[in-house]
Amino acid sequence: MTHDSDILIVGGGLNGPALALACAQAGMTSTVIDALSTAAREDEGFDGRSYALALASQRLLNALGIWPRVAEHAQPILHIVTTDGRPGEGPVLPFAMHFDTAEMDEGVMGYILEDRYLRRALLEAIEANPKITHRAGETVVDQNITASDAQVTLASGETLRGALLVGADGRRSGVGMRAGIQRTGWDYGQTALVCAVEHEKPHEGTAHQFFMPHGPLAILPLPGNRSSIVWAEAPEIATHIAGLDDAGFLEALRPRFGDFLGEIRLAGKRFAYPLNLTMANQTVKERLALIGDAAQGVHPIAGQGFNQGLADVATLTQVLADARRRGEDIGSILVLERHRQWRSFDRTTLALGMDAVNRLFSNDNPILRIGRGLGMGLIDRLPALRRTFVREAAGVSGDVPNLLKGRPA
Ligand SMILES: Cc1cc2nc3c(=O)[nH]c(=O)nc-3n(C[C@H](O)[C@H](O)[C@H](O)COP(=O)(O)OP(=O)(O)OC[C@H]3O[C@@H](n4cnc5c(N)ncnc54)[C@H](O)[C@@H]3O)c2cc1C
Repeated sequence: MTHDSDILIVGGGLNGPALALACAQAGMTSTVIDALSTAAREDEGFDGRSYALALASQRLLNALGIWPRVAEHAQPILHIVTTDGRPGEGPVLPFAMHFDTAEMDEGVMGYILEDRYLRRALLEAIEANPKITHRAGETVVDQNITASDAQVTLASGETLRGALLVGADGRRSGVGMRAGIQRTGWDYGQTALVCAVEHEKPHEGTAHQFFMPHGPLAILPLPGNRSSIVWAEAPEIATHIAGLDDAGFLEALRPRFGDFLGEIRLAGKRFAYPLNLTMANQTVKERLALIGDAAQGVHPIAGQGFNQGLADVATLTQVLADARRRGEDIGSILVLERHRQWRSFDRTTLALGMDAVNRLFSNDNPILRIGRGLGMGLIDRLPALRRTFVREAAGVSGDVPNLLKGRPA
């Protein structure tokens, strides 16, 4: 029986389209199915978040032809400053860690890019690619794996066939659930309040992370005198703050934000995201793979979720492209196991590392405060360690797949 495409991708968020484009470049066809309509996705108010893209992710987006479409909206990250803080007191200096782009030989550590630009560029690129079929506004309700096929059934009753089924369908992956894949995770008891602000003074490309007792506050530089805010709070506090009008919201934000950038005001809508950790216990099965948040949904504390998703995209594409060159079946578990093994160390260490950092910092225990202050002060005085952190954050160390080096798979 013929396949509709080589790969069926459920999920047209960010990682699904990125995988489709990467596989198209490597000669494979795919169908991207998403429950949301293109019009809903192109709405400017769809999602207020911005992404801290590691240098390696920027290289992948460049290799896929996406970067030239969004570069003018991206803000290079030149410095990162991480400090302990308390509402009303602002950051507690001198216990701070400073990371500087000058510590990288390869260029800037990364970029901040708003979701709206990235999402639109990915949608336009998959719509224009002859190797990709985009089925927007269609929901997958069932799936079936046979010896020769991966099949999905849409709500309309239509069935599609491919050699491989990829779940890029987010944190509550239906593809994973229907395949009987269990998940491990927990709620953080935190909600992220997300918005953009305009400020009087220039940010000079500095990203700030303040560790507050209920959760971290990230201030990420955007082009111009604007920054994106990811502000994690205990759910009851977050619900109260989210319910305030814009003036009340700013009044709550100001003492946490501090006055180092002068007067601030809201730029655009506000959003709220409950935070949890959710890891799929298996990321591959016969003719099936999970990528992006469907594989690992992590805390946004270090802005690594989408970067991890793009690492999935890069390794899976390379493994599939190599298999095709050798004449192997791309849905075979032997092939997919290579992807799992390649990603396994990074995905587990990152998820648990972010979890540990969040637990260590999101509290007001005086002993932990002293300990983390000393730890930050120590790291700040060790250039070799700082350089290791910077290179890790940029995604350029370790066994990096070709796309993350900016080369075709
Ligand atoms: C507040 C916040 C800030 C963040 N900041 C950063 C950052 O700075 N840097 C970073 O790297 N990451 C960041 N992240 C993480 C990042 O947002 C996610 O990792 C990324 O959006 C996941 O994309 P995805 O494509 O895997 O999943 P999603 O974007 O969740 O897409 C899944 C898609 O699947 C579709 N779908 C689901 N079920 C079906 C079905 N049955 N049929 C058809 N379609 C279906 C949905 O409609 C959806 O479009 C942040 C996250 C949060 C919450």
